[in-house]
Amino acid sequence: MAARPRAAIVTYEERRDLTYPEGHPFRPERAFMLMDILAREGVLGESWLREVLAIPASYDELARFHTPGYLSLLEEASRGRMSLEMLEVGLGSADCPVFSGLHELAALAAGGTLLGARMLDKAEADVVFNPIGGFHHAGKAFAEGFCYVNDVVLACLYLADQGRKVACVDLDVHHGNGTEDALIDDARVLKTSMHESGRTLYPGGGFETRIGAGAARGLNINVPLPAGSDDDAFLRAFRGVIMPVLGAYGPDVVVLEIGMDVLAGDPLGHLRLTNNATAEAATLVRGLGKPVLVLGGGGYHPHNTARGWAVAFMSMCGVDTEDAYAGLVGGVFLGDCGRRGGLRDMRVYASGEERAAIDAEVERVIAFHQATTFPIHGISSNAG
Ligand SMILES: [Zn+2]
Repeated sequence: MAARPRAAIVTYEERRDLTYPEGHPFRPERAFMLMDILAREGVLGESWLREVLAIPASYDELARFHTPGYLSLLEEASRGRMSLEMLEVGLGSADCPVFSGLHELAALAAGGTLLGARMLDKAEADVVFNPIGGFHHAGKAFAEGFCYVNDVVLACLYLADQGRKVACVDLDVHHGNGTEDALIDDARVLKTSMHESGRTLYPGGGFETRIGAGAARGLNINVPLPAGSDDDAFLRAFRGVIMPVLGAYGPDVVVLEIGMDVLAGDPLGHLRLTNNATAEAATLVRGLGKPVLVLGGGGYHPHNTARGWAVAFMSMCGVDTEDAYAGLVGGVFLGDCGRRGGLRDMRVYASGEERAAIDAEVERVIAFHQATTFPIHGISSNAG
């Protein structure tokens, strides 16, 4: 049996009322589904896993990144008031609606992430998972892409301010544009994002050529994947680019966003991953032996998302999850597999011409990094 880390999970039990408006794709309730799964699997209550209650981030904590003007608009919006000024900063759009309690929810989620960052900094835990975290699209003074407060940036800044060498690993299907823009010039933080290409998905950027400049040159690593990419393509790029860079960089702490909108069947993304791949990537990150702050990110098929989080988190903690489909090849995606087949998805593969096109694009991006960013990190790419 693999060694158990000292793990913690951030919970929201006392604020089950805080949620996005009915019909909005972002469902914080996924966190409660995750807890139900962990309870069923017998993981909750284990001595190595602590449950820690989220506490709201303070004004000063939020103001480490966000502007005072934006924070006061967020508070006003949370009281249900609308103004033209809000629309100018993205508040009141279809993606970022104004609703009662939005400031409380955003501050609580960010507080959960900062709680995890503090626990890791004080060596009180090795792995902390905040399922309602990872709002990587929010800007310093604007909301976008379902995100109001950028807790990823707040965590990276907090840890860097404590003198830690930070690596941010963003695996959400969407490019972490808010994180990238905020930290592009910050040489204390390595930013890596694997995502569906901006050619086919919001927010439209995240190309490999943006690598940072000056002292932060080579510290922004984008790995865009073509629509339709499966586990093989994802893991080839992850092992081919992200892991070598992480290994060479040698972070003190990792902030890992595991958005489950990469999974096949997600209503927003067009990748075709299974939760086996996300669990493997998360486990590889954990294998660096450094503290990891895990943030839930996106994922718009609620049950698949909760299941994917459970498999990734349990795998990182060395808990075996049954693989009911081991040995099966091919097959079709079952949508919501539920409990019929255990926690793990049946693997799906791209084939034929689509496979060849995906492989060629993934190889092109890997070759770009081997030629351009690997030398900055002193990585020899002749193994490729
Ligand atoms: Zn996403």
